[in-house]
Amino acid sequence: MTEEFDVIIIGAGPAGLFCAANLAGLRVCILEKMNLPGRKLLLSGSGQCNITHAGSMSDYAAHFGEASHAAFLKPALRALSNTDLLAFFEARGMTFETTDAGKVFPTSRSADDVLDTLLDACDAAGVEIFYEERAESVSAVDGRFFVQTAYAKYSAPCLLIAAGGSSYPKTGSSGDGVRLSEMLGHSVVPPKEALTPVYAENFRLADLSGLSFENVSLTIWRDGKKIGANTNDLLITRFGFSGPCVLDASRSMQAGDVLKISFTQLSAEAVDALLVERCRTEGGRLVSNLLYGLGVPDRLVKVLTADAGIAEDTKGSQLSGSSRKALVRLLTSYEVKIARLGDFSISMATAGGVSLSEVNKKTCESKIHAGLFFAGEVLDIDGDTGGYNLQAAFSTAYLAAQRMKTLCA
Ligand SMILES: Cc1cc2nc3c(=O)[nH]c(=O)nc-3n(C[C@H](O)[C@H](O)[C@H](O)COP(=O)(O)OP(=O)(O)OC[C@H]3O[C@@H](n4cnc5c(N)ncnc54)[C@H](O)[C@@H]3O)c2cc1C
Repeated sequence: MTEEFDVIIIGAGPAGLFCAANLAGLRVCILEKMNLPGRKLLLSGSGQCNITHAGSMSDYAAHFGEASHAAFLKPALRALSNTDLLAFFEARGMTFETTDAGKVFPTSRSADDVLDTLLDACDAAGVEIFYEERAESVSAVDGRFFVQTAYAKYSAPCLLIAAGGSSYPKTGSSGDGVRLSEMLGHSVVPPKEALTPVYAENFRLADLSGLSFENVSLTIWRDGKKIGANTNDLLITRFGFSGPCVLDASRSMQAGDVLKISFTQLSAEAVDALLVERCRTEGGRLVSNLLYGLGVPDRLVKVLTADAGIAEDTKGSQLSGSSRKALVRLLTSYEVKIARLGDFSISMATAGGVSLSEVNKKTCESKIHAGLFFAGEVLDIDGDTGGYNLQAAFSTAYLAAQRMKTLCA
């Protein structure tokens, strides 16, 4: 027997739940393959849920990689801005706070509260959620969509694929969304890890694992050409680098690329001039003590001084020009070659997904099948860290809901 609905939603993540919550009055079901909803949402922001980013929506464009991706998102972000999103949750009793960096979190710092609010809103809208009900195949026949699970068949004139990307597969998002979309004739940009750390070849800073830096500049080089740059906070890990500076730029990186990192905000010329001056005026001090005020931790200075071939007891007055230049280069252009990027088990987002060229950006509806919609990470969209991915999921889901209401009226 086929169960009939107005709208079928595949995936009870933020996109699926938010779309459903905005469809009161329609008969809506969500099919969720896990035994619980929003598993990835619960991990977001280390369990605190960085739900969105503050500031003007026009600033969002710079945080979704390719310009065409930001252009696709524009109508969705206009339809449901960061303040609109927060108003939805505030109307249901939640409060929020914004960090100096513009990240917005629930005041309770609890992703559970965000999920509970979404579930309550779905409940109030009369949404039926079926757990452990994995969509195995989808088809479109005579203006209706059919979804087959292991136990039942569902049919509706509107279908939303909100099954997420491929990262953190244990949360349920393991690439089904693109497979189901392909079954309905949609093309897919091959999924690739995004927001993922870098594993460096012959990494020499492993002992400094845990050390973090504010506002570090990084450039990415491939075959001798600069292909990208970023400035943000950086973290040294046991295997290489992480932190927003690397995570946000990782969508443009691949194994074999060279990263050049400046650990100080001063230029190479400025650091060199400063060292020359301090060697002259404070030449009796150890070289490792002459780099004060640059914001570079002593532990890193010691490692880089040794790497530059400068003996621990070398004084400023004894520093040769070539050693000084080697030290300045390590401080302002520390080079590592990427051995590999973190795989889907640790990447926080998925680049690639359902090709945007086949989706109407004003409705998130398929250009191939009327009544078929996509929202959230299943789309070929990936944002920077800072709340951009959740905002994109909520905004695209909202657009889809508005169009479904018109179609089902
Ligand atoms: C560790 C971590 C931390 C993060 N922190 C943040 C943060 O603080 N801020 C931020 O903006 N973003 C964050 N993100 C990214 C953000 O969580 C995702 O972009 C967001 O969850 C995407 O929402 P979605 O609804 O599109 O997909 P998902 O959240 O992945 O939900 C998809 C749902 O579909 C279900 N599903 C999949 N296949 C099927 C199927 N065949 N049948 C039925 N159901 C299916 C899945 O089980 C899942 O419940 C983080 C990600 C990770 C991994």
